[in-house]
Amino acid sequence: MTQSPVQSRVDLHTHSHCSDGVLAPAALVALAAQRAVGLLALTDHDTAAGCEEARAACLAHGVAFVPGVELSSVWREREIHVVGLALDPAHAPFGAHCALLLALRRQRVAAIGERLQRAGLPGTQLAQEALASPAPTRAHLARGLVASGIADSVQQAFDRWLRRGRPGHVAAPWPPLAVAVRCIVQAGGVAVLAHPQRYRVSSGGLSELLAEFKAAGGAGLEVSLPGMAPHDADRLATLARRYELAGSIGSDFHEPGVPWRPLGRFAKLPDRITPIMECLGL
Ligand code: MN
Ligand code: MN
Ligand code: MN
Repeated sequence: MTQSPVQSRVDLHTHSHCSDGVLAPAALVALAAQRAVGLLALTDHDTAAGCEEARAACLAHGVAFVPGVELSSVWREREIHVVGLALDPAHAPFGAHCALLLALRRQRVAAIGERLQRAGLPGTQLAQEALASPAPTRAHLARGLVASGIADSVQQAFDRWLRRGRPGHVAAPWPPLAVAVRCIVQAGGVAVLAHPQRYRVSSGGLSELLAEFKAAGGAGLEVSLPGMAPHDADRLATLARRYELAGSIGSDFHEPGVPWRPLGRFAKLPDRITPIMECLGL
């Protein structure tokens, strides 16, 4: 039986193997149902390719489904992620935007592979393996570095080889933030600024980011994520109120066994925040 999304858990930020998650969309949905998630969005990086499978699985499990995406963009030379919720995955301009981003992803992964090769690592092979994914990401390269014994962990792979200033760093050529927001809105979706506490900007910078995001048509801010420090949660709730952004909640789940990103498990929305669920036309 379908549970009311109000009474069950909500998770509006998840990944499947259509980008850098490890589960197939149907397996992700089965796990979500097992964890009493009643409202689930699939938000793969730069593709909605898994949404059809996830929708069918949600129907079978009695989970309400929200088709989504997490678009890569740039604001002041920083990579910013915009989650799009309840959009039409078949909207042609949205499809074209995703196709562009996936082409940029392939080029970037190949360029990183070349740089790693020049640094004496099996970069060409690592890039080839990553390029087997429909949406190749740096996480694929990082996992490859771990699998081949070059790094002890994904985090170490990023810190030693992939981050800015490291041998395998290639800047992301993503479209501007406002373009990503408009793309989501034109596809009938609701644009949500993802994991704002992760961007390395000053608090004044974050205010300016939110003002521009709102002006471009952004409607929501992720304010409840697993493992968020209480002072971050308070700060983001204040910003959501100031910029009249609805509050979204999501785990950013990628794979089972990563306890700091548990599917469907995190704090409730703070007080006096409009729940993003009210904006999704459910
Ligand atoms: Mn990811
Ligand atoms: Mn992200
Ligand atoms: Mn994500």
